[in-house]
Amino acid sequence: MAGRLNGKVALITGAGSGIGRQAALRFAAEGARVAAVDVNAEAGQAVAEEVAAAGGRAVFVEADVSRGRDCAHMVARAEEEFGALHVLFNNAGISHAADADAVDTEEAVWDLTMAVNLKGVFLGCKHGVPALRRAGGGSIVNTASFVALLGAAVPQLAYTASKGGVLALTRELAVVHAREGIRVNALCPGPLRTELLMKYLDTEEKRQRRLVHIPMGRFGEAGEIADAALYLASDESSFVTGTAFTVDGGITAAYVTPEPEETSR
Ligand code: NAD
Repeated sequence: MAGRLNGKVALITGAGSGIGRQAALRFAAEGARVAAVDVNAEAGQAVAEEVAAAGGRAVFVEADVSRGRDCAHMVARAEEEFGALHVLFNNAGISHAADADAVDTEEAVWDLTMAVNLKGVFLGCKHGVPALRRAGGGSIVNTASFVALLGAAVPQLAYTASKGGVLALTRELAVVHAREGIRVNALCPGPLRTELLMKYLDTEEKRQRRLVHIPMGRFGEAGEIADAALYLASDESSFVTGTAFTVDGGITAAYVTPEPEETSR
């Protein structure tokens, strides 16, 4: 069967849930062999089993992306198991419940958020780039967010700053590695109906307040982001590098969002 990722080995961090889980399933269905990485062993293992049950190939690797040793290990395991690494999807991220504005955000919350969301991407690249070089090139996809591009009135300062960092880091790496066949792109999802966001938007009123800003009037699905990651991971995007690839239901295009009755005209 002709899969869009046939012959490729893909490492996905945060593969135990949401976008990462959907990416593991889709990438494997398109022929990739997948190293499914997560700090949550139970969730990561379950996804690797799900991939296998669907006829794909995956290995679970337990790693905390904020730790250099773990990132070296996850890359080594992917190469050991599957012989090479072609796609690195730095997707793991957290959104801390006590992340607020500059006055109220504790230093510990700032440090933890930066360690996972920004340093985690740096460490993935630090250990992943040499592997991609050994494979003769490849694609790096880093999950940023629409908040890397727009300010929100409900502040999550550490999260937003970490995602802005991911975007800046992505652009620079794209330029630095362009001539060696390594593409680097940032994915900027809009608000999604995944655990990460829904644990805060836990009432219909809160959800509706957020939906007011999304031209499409709905939350995105993890699978819709995984589909964009699949494109960026595959050779179909061979001339695409350094982008902030928005998949956001139109949020970043909007100044004023239409009312539901206006959209039905
Ligand atoms: P999720 O919470 O469903 O999944 C995140 C996964 O990452 C979990 O399995 C978790 O165990 C894992 N993880 C957390 N810390 C880790 C660590 N230190 N090392 C390894 N794995 C770790 O979240 P999601 O919505 O799928 O989010 C994935 C990415 O998308 C994140 O970077 C997030 O910031 C970003 N994002 C999410 C939204 C949204 O609305 N959900 C919007 C924009 C961007």
